[in-house]
Amino acid sequence: NVIDIERVDAYRWRLKRHGAMRTDGLVFASAGMFESIRKEESLQQVANVACLPGIVGPSMAMPDIHWGYGFPIGGVAAFDMDEGIVSPGGVGYDINCGVRLMTSRLSRSELGDERIKDLVNTLFQNIPSGVGSSRKDLKLSPAELKKVLRDGAGWALSQGFGTPADLERIEEGGTIPWADPEKVSEKALERGRSQLGTLGSGNHFVEVGMVEEIFDTEVARVFGLFEGQVTVFVHTGSRGLGHQVCDDFIRLLLKSTKKYGIELPDKQLCCAPVESAEGRDYIAAMGAAANFAFANRQLITHWVRESFESFFGLSAERLGLSVLYDVCHNMAKIETHRFEGRERKLCVHRKGATRAFAAGLPQVPEIYRQVGQPVLIPGDMGRCSYVLVGTPGAMEETFGSTCHGAGRVLSRHQALKAAQGRSIARELESHGIYVRGATRATLDEEMPEAYKDVSDVVEVVHQAGISRKVARLKPLGVMKG
Ligand code: 5GP
Ligand code: MN
Ligand code: MN
Repeated sequence: NVIDIERVDAYRWRLKRHGAMRTDGLVFASAGMFESIRKEESLQQVANVACLPGIVGPSMAMPDIHWGYGFPIGGVAAFDMDEGIVSPGGVGYDINCGVRLMTSRLSRSELGDERIKDLVNTLFQNIPSGVGSSRKDLKLSPAELKKVLRDGAGWALSQGFGTPADLERIEEGGTIPWADPEKVSEKALERGRSQLGTLGSGNHFVEVGMVEEIFDTEVARVFGLFEGQVTVFVHTGSRGLGHQVCDDFIRLLLKSTKKYGIELPDKQLCCAPVESAEGRDYIAAMGAAANFAFANRQLITHWVRESFESFFGLSAERLGLSVLYDVCHNMAKIETHRFEGRERKLCVHRKGATRAFAAGLPQVPEIYRQVGQPVLIPGDMGRCSYVLVGTPGAMEETFGSTCHGAGRVLSRHQALKAAQGRSIARELESHGIYVRGATRATLDEEMPEAYKDVSDVVEVVHQAGISRKVARLKPLGVMKG
């Protein structure tokens, strides 16, 4: 390999600056994990990102790193506002894909095995899923859709879906203020119109689980988590609308890369200066798509609550399905960070990476400000997931960022092959987990072994100090898109 790699410590690997790289690369991984990362194309992608103009600090990758369009998934890169760029490849196709976790007042003992099956089936009835899924009952007028793109989760609230307490517990309060729906193409609007309130396919899911172990009692108390508690994860994004925005701007920015004389090691890194007309338009459209995703998770939350209420015949009050938090894991944001002793306004790209802001920051909801923001890390449908908390270490080293999941190890194609002759649903059922996919292929592609072991991934970010373990969750029943 032409990349010169230096082991910094047990959890950090430096890709030394060479050739067109403007800065080093920095990968967070254990020695065992780095063994395989070393052989992957995604490592070259970390080096490629380091070649982009105006990059501040190293081009980083979290331990859930794997190959993505242009930038690796698990990538974090910050750019100067004057000399730097913004790139759709650094955000990803599913703009503001993210996860939300709800906690309940139910404990595992109130939810027998047979009931979990019926509960998941109820969720399936109430939340449309699958490729191109749509809601005929929620087809929005063009004017209404623009309101969604402007107000995000706030729009959902205005329609009666949720409570003000929900908004407090969403990154950005559930509304990106710099969103501009006028920068979203007709084609993207058309794709989004009937897809609001749908889960989508494959990796997206609604998962009923439980808190299996608490690592930090103090923080768990502030987050409202207790052992044996029933929880619900919602993982979805901006559906066809975000995808189309990404597509539109990749096309446009391929041209602006030339126009602004930016040299790229890979065309997929196409970009524009942050403050150029093209860059600003992309940021405004990305914000609008992000609001669509916030509204989407908010609507699904509402239907999860309705499903639980009708299923258990209990009041909303008794069920207590409250939002713990909602994080974006595919976004670029303008943020102020202290870097090399001074405050810098930066365009921070997190692609398959999560914010991990520390205690005391104004972006952390007041209810959590004493401990830091909740960081939600889904693992896979068979093993486990984690709740972490943001740390000062993240603020110092990663622009307040950490991993976003386990990260894939098998491509969808490889997973399909590995699943041949097996029934993933039956295998999981023998472990007491009921899964139902929109299609059989979904379950095959999403089999647990298609992902890294999230416990390994989380151990790295915990040991490296860029977030800290609070609790581990176990899946009980999973609806896969
Ligand atoms: P992505 O948005 O990158 O596709 O997925 C985020 C993460 O979700 C993946 O890296 C994976 O670790 C996790 N994940 C995928 N499917 C499931 C699931 O069914 N349940 C849970 N808990 N996590 C999942
Ligand atoms: Mn996602
Ligand atoms: Mn997604």
